[in-house]
Amino acid sequence: MSLKIYLDGKMFNKEDAKISVFDHGLLYGDGVFEGIRSYSSLVFKLNEHVDRLYESAHTIMLQIPINKKQMIKAIIDTLKINKLKDAYIRVVVTRGVGDLGLDPRKCKVATIIIITDNIVLYPKELYQKGLEIITVPTVRNLANAIDPQVKSLNYLNNIMAKIEATNSGYQEAIMLNSMGLVAECTGDNIFLIKNKQLYTPPQSMGTLRGITRDAVMEIAKKAKIKTHESMLTRHEVFNADELFLTGTAAEVIPVVKVDSRLIGDGKPGKITLSLLNEFNKITRKDGVKYTV
Ligand code: PMP
Repeated sequence: MSLKIYLDGKMFNKEDAKISVFDHGLLYGDGVFEGIRSYSSLVFKLNEHVDRLYESAHTIMLQIPINKKQMIKAIIDTLKINKLKDAYIRVVVTRGVGDLGLDPRKCKVATIIIITDNIVLYPKELYQKGLEIITVPTVRNLANAIDPQVKSLNYLNNIMAKIEATNSGYQEAIMLNSMGLVAECTGDNIFLIKNKQLYTPPQSMGTLRGITRDAVMEIAKKAKIKTHESMLTRHEVFNADELFLTGTAAEVIPVVKVDSRLIGDGKPGKITLSLLNEFNKITRKDGVKYTV
């Protein structure tokens, strides 16, 4: 059976799910998106993702033509029709069809796309061995240019950084902000552990408030690990006891080397692995249930 895609209220076979070349999502990257996961028929942090989607849309003054309840139903319906228990869900809302000018007022209705598919994660061994990453020259967007809190379809800032990483043979990279402080990675948030305490940059550093980031901070607090949102320099990253990244697709992944500096003893840290373990338990236990 062909994968079914939700497009503006209807389900289409993957081959037939098409949008106009005049859609401003394509012409200008004008739109917003979310990446969500389901595990064993439980959608993880669904309400949080939908809230963030509508917040992104609100900031760019994009009217999503259905309400949050209808959006949640549409997501669940797409999972069900595809009989997917474990899935990556991509929700995209574009400005819709307009003319060749920038003016979004010419776009009468937003386009809603929901794709559910299997996820390609980092290979399993990397979660045991840990990632090696680098810092790249492309600076994370300034909040007063394009706020990193808006998950917009214009991801070129991150894509430039990703290109720089892959050109150098790395899969992920640290992006600094305009002050030279750590913001986040191209598609993940970053955490370090020093003296058994957890540190991650605050939103004001140009850091997306990741939903996995929040979940990990919650896990850490429950485990009585002191957590701090604080400015981080590369020096602090290099001299961390442990380092890891978080994201919907990556989950919690240890990092063992940054810019050729070993982190700790060069192996995934104990606290990182316990947070990863707890995160894996939670994703299989908490969430919005559906049946396929
Ligand atoms: N930072 C960026 C730039 C991202 O694209 C993502 C993935 N959405 C994250 C961080 C992690 O956020 P989340 O945990 O909500 O997936």
